Amino acid sequence: MSDPLQAPRGTFDILPEQAPLRLAVEKVTRSVLESAGYERIETPTFEPTELFTRSVGEATDIVQKEMYSFVDGGERSLTLRPEVTAPIVRAYLQHGMHKLPQPVKLWYLSSCFRYERAQKGRYRQFWQIGAEAIGSDDPAVDAESITLLAEILEQLGVQGLQLRIGSLGGAAARERYRELLKAHLRANEDRLAEDVKARIELNPLRAFDSADESTRAVMATAPVLLDHLDEEDLDHFAELRSLLDSIELGYVIDPALVRGLDYYARTVFEFSSAALGAQSGVGGGGRYDGLAEQIDGPPTPGVGWAAGIERILLAAEGLPQPEPLTVLFVALADSGARTRSAAFALSTAARRAGVPSRIELAGRSIKGQLKHADRLKTRFVAVVSGEGVELKDFETGETSAFEDGDGALAAVLRGRGIA
Ligand code: ATP
Ligand code: MG
Repeated sequence: MSDPLQAPRGTFDILPEQAPLRLAVEKVTRSVLESAGYERIETPTFEPTELFTRSVGEATDIVQKEMYSFVDGGERSLTLRPEVTAPIVRAYLQHGMHKLPQPVKLWYLSSCFRYERAQKGRYRQFWQIGAEAIGSDDPAVDAESITLLAEILEQLGVQGLQLRIGSLGGAAARERYRELLKAHLRANEDRLAEDVKARIELNPLRAFDSADESTRAVMATAPVLLDHLDEEDLDHFAELRSLLDSIELGYVIDPALVRGLDYYARTVFEFSSAALGAQSGVGGGGRYDGLAEQIDGPPTPGVGWAAGIERILLAAEGLPQPEPLTVLFVALADSGARTRSAAFALSTAARRAGVPSRIELAGRSIKGQLKHADRLKTRFVAVVSGEGVELKDFETGETSAFEDGDGALAAVLRGRGIA
């Protein structure tokens, strides 16, 4: 016989032992973001392919190499979301959220799909938490957004954090700068890596991301976008920094910070962790004031971030260990019909009273059942027989016996402060 089927490469199962950690991420995210007025949103897993080609950008790695796209039965090209910002801006426009008080603040916990080289911290299906504030270009929104991600990562115990920030300026300044950068790249073409050379026209900014040594040397002397920003963009960036300074949130200005998505304008930022290896990015984001227009909406400013849950978990320390959930184990002294139904009723009554309860379901001997209850670390074991119930409290060592199950059990549990 051949091996059973495996999950696709680059994907993983979230097994029960990992669930409590993920729940901790969700809880912290929710409490931090909702305390700042963010509300949860969930968009579809797939979207029209065009949404991503237009917003993320034709020339990006994501669109060129990483999208899971398919044609459905109605001949439409659809794509499993590689990121969630564009879907959320799409939802904002589609539902007329501009009529709500601005900015509209939304958060999510969603899976994303990218066809990438699978390795530790880099998967083909992964989960992101994220926040978007749409409808204001006030730098205070950027500062708040960054601060909230810092707060979440800190509460989750992510180690070795570093925050880098930068500004890409507005479209006009970026266009002028692109020409300068292209000229610099062309002048040094013979020293550039092949893939960088191939993209001088299409995506010259991406050259800053190259790992190639000779390319990096060329980039070290490249013109820097921060030196070519408009007055307004510089003011915006200065105010962002002064707000971060006012709350003493540490950061490094990275003039070469480029993100892999074309829709960013003005603020960009990234949190990385020294606790991670090559895949050091924990979360990042920025302002995307032109995105809504790219998908046929009216000009609408916005800022947000996304952080990878798997990378958070890899870099976090001190997350909660799973706690045993069972309080009561209902054991069956025999397999008679009366015993079975009495035990079933007892366990159900306990759960209805709010007491986590489990019943024997595997036909074990009474000895086996007690051993199993011990493994579950339950505090109470109720042994049900034709004659009634014997309840043992393993914390106090006390035993009580009663004939009718439910009522008496409830009284005992109440007496112990359980239910
Ligand atoms: P990287 O530079 O590592 O490829 P990215 O810039 O492509 O990251 P973003 O698009 O900004 O990442 O996504 C935000 C976050 O999502 C990242 O900081 C990372 O934590 C996480 N992430 C991105 N791609 C993956 C992936 N393939 N597997 C797991 N997590 C990912
Ligand atoms: Mg990437």
